[in-house]
Amino acid sequence: MDRIVIVTGGSRGIGAATALCAARSGYRVCVAYLNRQDAADAVVQEIEREGGEAMAVQADVGREADVLRLFEFVDRRFGEVTALVNNAGILERQMRVEEMDAERLTRVFNANVVGSFLCAREAVRRMSTRYGGHGGAIVNVSSVASRLGSPNEYVDYAASKAAIDTLTLGLAKEVAAEGIRVNAVRPGSIYTEIHASGGEPGRVDRVKARIPMQRGGEVDEIARAIVWLLSDEASYMTGSLVDVSGGL
Ligand code: NAP
Repeated sequence: MDRIVIVTGGSRGIGAATALCAARSGYRVCVAYLNRQDAADAVVQEIEREGGEAMAVQADVGREADVLRLFEFVDRRFGEVTALVNNAGILERQMRVEEMDAERLTRVFNANVVGSFLCAREAVRRMSTRYGGHGGAIVNVSSVASRLGSPNEYVDYAASKAAIDTLTLGLAKEVAAEGIRVNAVRPGSIYTEIHASGGEPGRVDRVKARIPMQRGGEVDEIARAIVWLLSDEASYMTGSLVDVSGGL
């Protein structure tokens, strides 16, 4: 059976590294992105240069119509999806909880939580043996923030990742007997552009002294864990929350 993966937020950072790593492992890859078509196209071109197969699809994971369109596009172009990486995620400017307004909270929970639920739903509808599918694997990208809380920075983001942990635990049990494994990777502080959204592009270097391994992580170190969890090497793992955080 062909291995087909959708990586949300595949245009940049951890998602782009995951798309490349999955392609090197033999997956046909759908690189889903929000705005940065240039970055998504560059990932697709790199995969193709290496002899793999990929396509870029624009979809806001927080919009149900976009998620439906994304999965239908993959059905038509590639066939039955076998893996999903729920990686798209945002954080907003660092502030305390008492400064956060409803618009911000809605944006963060919509992109991080609603988006992951909708994509997981569409994946289950295709992969589950309950609906005639052939099984598959889902990896949700959470964060160690879910157990640290991110005080004074983004407690909303941390809480959204705690919801991702719970989605992972609950969904894993729901579909375990239907051929689908669901796990999460919880990265620590990784060098990507996400920290600029918080207003501190150099955040990883500021906090690295607090990380037991004394350094930030590289995107490939997260991507390898994600692709391993998707693979048959992790065949008896489901409902696991795997920290990849240098000991944090
Ligand atoms: P990033 O470099 O900021 O990239 C974010 C990606 O998500 C981009 O591809 C972006 O698309 C996409 N995206 C954002 N909102 C979206 C939406 N509503 N619909 C679809 N796609 C959307 O982020 P990153 O650091 O690689 O983070 C990836 C994941 O890892 C996130 O879930 C994040 O919470 C998690 N994480 C990161 C760290 C870290 O230290 N970096 C630590 C723990 C967890 P465009 O390119 O089109 O904008």
